[in-house]
Amino acid sequence: MVRSERYVYRFGNGVADADDSMRALLGNKGAGLVQMSRLSIPVPPGFIIGTNACHHYFKHGTLPPSLTKEIKAAMQWLGETMGREFNNAQNPLLVSVRSGSVVSMPGMMDTILNVGLSQSSIDGLVSQSGSTQLALDSYRRLIQMFSAVVLDVPKGDLDQVMTAIYANHSSGGLLSDDALREAIHQLRAVVLRSTGEEFPDNGDQQLQLAIQAVIESWSNERARFYRRLNGISDDLGTAVTVQAMVMGNAGAESGTGVGFTRNPSTGEKEIFGEFLANAQGEDIVSGARTPVSIASLKRSMPDVYEELSAIVMQLEQHYRDVQDFEFTVENRKLFLLQTRSAKRSAIAAVRTAVDMVAENLITKDEAISRVNPASISEILAPQLDFTTSYPTLLTTGIAASPGAAVGRIAFSSAEVVRMAKQPDHDPLILISHETTAEDIHGMALAAGFLTAHGGATSHAAVVARGMGKCCITGAKEIVIDKAASVLRIGDQTLHKGDWISLDGSTGRIFSGQLLLRAPDEKNEALQTLLDWTKDIATLDVRANADTPLDAVQARIAGARGIGLCRTEHMFFAPERLPHVRAMILASSTEDRQAPLEQLLPMQQHDFEALFREMSPLPVTIRLLDPPLHEFLPSLDEARADLENAAITNREVRKFKQLTERIQALTEINPMMGHRGCRLSITYPEILEMQVKAILQAAINVIREGYKTVPEIMVPLIASAEEMSWLRKRIDHVASEVFAHAGMSIPYLVGTMIELPRAAICAHTIAQYVDFASFGTNDLTQMTFGLSRDDSSVFLNHYLEHGILPSDPFVTLDREGVGNLIRIAINGLRETNPEIKIGICGEHGGDPASIHFFSTLGIDYVSCSPARIRTARLAAAQISRNDSHISEMPSLMAT
Ligand code: PEP
Ligand code: MG
Repeated sequence: MVRSERYVYRFGNGVADADDSMRALLGNKGAGLVQMSRLSIPVPPGFIIGTNACHHYFKHGTLPPSLTKEIKAAMQWLGETMGREFNNAQNPLLVSVRSGSVVSMPGMMDTILNVGLSQSSIDGLVSQSGSTQLALDSYRRLIQMFSAVVLDVPKGDLDQVMTAIYANHSSGGLLSDDALREAIHQLRAVVLRSTGEEFPDNGDQQLQLAIQAVIESWSNERARFYRRLNGISDDLGTAVTVQAMVMGNAGAESGTGVGFTRNPSTGEKEIFGEFLANAQGEDIVSGARTPVSIASLKRSMPDVYEELSAIVMQLEQHYRDVQDFEFTVENRKLFLLQTRSAKRSAIAAVRTAVDMVAENLITKDEAISRVNPASISEILAPQLDFTTSYPTLLTTGIAASPGAAVGRIAFSSAEVVRMAKQPDHDPLILISHETTAEDIHGMALAAGFLTAHGGATSHAAVVARGMGKCCITGAKEIVIDKAASVLRIGDQTLHKGDWISLDGSTGRIFSGQLLLRAPDEKNEALQTLLDWTKDIATLDVRANADTPLDAVQARIAGARGIGLCRTEHMFFAPERLPHVRAMILASSTEDRQAPLEQLLPMQQHDFEALFREMSPLPVTIRLLDPPLHEFLPSLDEARADLENAAITNREVRKFKQLTERIQALTEINPMMGHRGCRLSITYPEILEMQVKAILQAAINVIREGYKTVPEIMVPLIASAEEMSWLRKRIDHVASEVFAHAGMSIPYLVGTMIELPRAAICAHTIAQYVDFASFGTNDLTQMTFGLSRDDSSVFLNHYLEHGILPSDPFVTLDREGVGNLIRIAINGLRETNPEIKIGICGEHGGDPASIHFFSTLGIDYVSCSPARIRTARLAAAQISRNDSHISEMPSLMAT
């Protein structure tokens, strides 16, 4: 005989037809109720219709035929348990019908309370509860909820009735019996007007329609949107909980509350939450009346408070996690309605994880897995404080570097520099179409950057992350009128010097001066948690650091070396730029020597500082990468300089030479042009200067007693022939330096892999290198053929329409770019099994991408100092084979 599938599982009053292992079937809420019932915690009894019924409904368009019989039997049991009867006018059984998936989607689906009540059973409820008020109030709530959810009566029309009734009749937020009767009368009239039929007063009909509506709410617009936003599968389906009503609205010794076992903002161990006397659940959410703190129960109902504290602590011990619970008190009798793992701030997540280890509730490994790595920036960077103000949101751009900045508007780097010269100046925000390497001085002085163009790896974004500053890019609604020193967003106009507030963690831009909450850099719990990762992580985290100051921050954050030093950033210091320009303007190799000789000691000095700071950890220094024109002024600036200078023949000659050179170096497509290793091939003397500076610096610090093995990295290699040519040059310069110094030291030569050709031909390139590091910014750009600097406008459309799952410059595209990396790693290891492999693009600081890289067996990721702690935590979670990343949607949902 074929047994039909089971859909209904009972709980409460000593019965539990299921257990926690059936969470996917029961949903989170259902599983919590079953578990509480197993722990003998008082829950109103009821039953769960499993997600299998929902799957059936969406597959066949109807509920499973056998479900009706199962529900009938369960309702019979429930009536007997409660000493009441469903659909009985004298002694009615009322139930709630609630949704609940295995992933929490708060507020997205529907709930209906007081199902089973009708005009004819109001008197029965009065004699059951002794309260006319309760009976009338429960019935008007049923009409409101049921009509909106099941009968599609416009919620606004129903709310309007209640708003008017409250306005005219309420005293202290409560309604008299007459007012409630009037409300019921008017609500029923709205239903009749809207549907053409009377409100259904038959319990069976109510129950069936309510169950169906709750199941259907799985695919309502907002639920589907929420799932898309949080990466939750549409296939999970919702369970339905049908549960005996307990009446929080039964009088002064009744009420309803929500709470947490620990403070969800700070993590402090205290029961935290709200209670509203004489109320049902939705009253707390609706804000019509103001709840009091749960702690006030200590005075008003101490026995209830004590029982509640003991129960929720028991739940925390059982689940070994902070619980978010809902409860109802009916005439001083306590019932738990829900328990689940609590959402919490990053600070609370870290603190509770560490505290729970001290309390022997969880292991260190578990504590590490409890914290979302991406949320750490909330602790370490300043945040906008919304508690005291209601700011005007101007627009939203790409959240390119987390943290927040509040300051006065400046429209160019030069303007920032000028404004920063004022004594006691306010913080400044640099706003421009985009930034270039030349803006570095203004960027160093600004508190944050906002660009109208660019994406997550545009210049402004990369520099901001490197500096640990807040940055928003691709704010495409901003129109900047530089000449008039104004920006427009819709009908708002802001001028130079006006206040603006940026939230780099969400990309939101506000007008005015919001308050800033300071970062908690010394957060002890976070330090403890990160210390624990040291024993676990197998993937090293290095820093992208260009200056000794970056190196100090990288070490404090726990970096295991420098994975990328972009040497060009050292060329922009005011005292260096003239020499760099002289080097570029030189028309022959001989003329280039003099400026290079000026630059050599400066670079050497920088490298010495880096080596000292990082000793004995590795330091990877990349040879010059950007196109040379980036170091020259624009034609407009050159002209302006000439106008300001005394017009002598010499000045004019200089101007002519400069403009010719600018024109000669101008490329239509500089990102694919004369940059990277191509510079070292056409101007080998620049490579020679840099290699000399690196090796002489290493020799000097080794002589001082420090330890270092310099790693020289060549950017933008496409072929083995390029690498072979350059390796010979580098080794030749090294032998000269060693001969001159009278000592030789070990050094490594490596390549960046940032072109698809290099990835595909990595097995041939591997013979000439000791290490390889993936520049995933350029590799993404070149693989997609998508500019990292100005594709944000259409990229947004791709993201909106789901054509791309996420911004590929933020989270690595596994299918395309990831596959190229896989091919490259296989090739590299095939030729050179000992080769050291790293990642130094921005993806090196993105937890989801780190997760992917770890599956490829790389040695390290390298990221900006501000993201090192995030990367360390992500690396530790992976090493213990943690599933945190796939669990993130449920943890992140609010
Ligand atoms: C890269 O391309 O990923 C990289 C690290 O180099 P840059 O961002 O300097 O081009
Ligand atoms: Mg690059």
